[in-house]
Amino acid sequence: MPAASSLTERALQPILDGIAARILKDADWGTPAQYIPELAGIDPAQFAISVCDRHGETCSAGAFDTAFSIQSVSKVFSLIAALGRVGETLWRRVGREPSGTSFDSILLLERESGRPRNPFVNAGALVTTDALLAGRAPKLALAEILGLIRDLAEDRDIHIDADVARSEQRTGARNKALAHYLDSHGNLTNEPEMTLGTYFHQCAIEMTTRQLACAGRALAGLPGTHGMIRPERARRVNALMMTCGHYDGSGEFAFRVGLPGKSGVGGGILVIAPGQASIAIWSPGLDHYGNSKAGTRAAALLSDATGWSVF
Ligand code: GLN
Repeated sequence: MPAASSLTERALQPILDGIAARILKDADWGTPAQYIPELAGIDPAQFAISVCDRHGETCSAGAFDTAFSIQSVSKVFSLIAALGRVGETLWRRVGREPSGTSFDSILLLERESGRPRNPFVNAGALVTTDALLAGRAPKLALAEILGLIRDLAEDRDIHIDADVARSEQRTGARNKALAHYLDSHGNLTNEPEMTLGTYFHQCAIEMTTRQLACAGRALAGLPGTHGMIRPERARRVNALMMTCGHYDGSGEFAFRVGLPGKSGVGGGILVIAPGQASIAIWSPGLDHYGNSKAGTRAAALLSDATGWSVF
């Protein structure tokens, strides 16, 4: 990564300003998630980007103080928490392969006896959250996820938007179907409604891009984060983000950006440049995979401008 090593905060800020200006000028926004009523009406013409670099600096452009619903980006943190709690035994219940299917697909579950392909498709995230719940009250599992995120971000001002959680709870028929299907295969240990409620609330965590970029620093192995996530664990979570983090759009994201990333239908993307930076991008309009349209473009512009890539 030649260009990256010489990047300083002074060099990064104009790059981010340039990306924000270009994204606003192109105005190619996509459509916010329509199946979650609380998110459906959000103005798609919004954009923010924040980068924490290896010098300990954070640079941002756009609406970086606007909190958005992190949705499936939360799956990165629930995975880290679940691995911390149950360790490698999690992999008996969920795989580590890309699915090539949409995030809420039930297709492979029947063929593969209720063992989801990976922890980032909804079925796999439900199993991961179920493992974290492990008979406890949902609020304890949620406190663990939220506590982890707050610790990683070094910011206590991160909360769950209960309206978004309720909105999804009312309309989330697909996730309910997935949970009951997993249960029928003996791959849930809690009541499906308990696991679902916990999952909907973890998805409804709100963060700004600045907070999310800070929360990703330990995954990028940046100085000062030593010990918060073991390097060998961070490497594996990053590998899953690279291969599965954008569902059936993961290959396209790897091609265009070349970095591990995790998207959410709130329009957020967490991107990790190992050893270099943690990046958070938000723009609520989605492409047909359910990934942020302008956000993906911004990530590609950033990796081109900085040379940050794992390839
Ligand atoms: N809460 C959303 C759902 O389960 C998360 C999906 C996503 O962000 N891709 O449908």
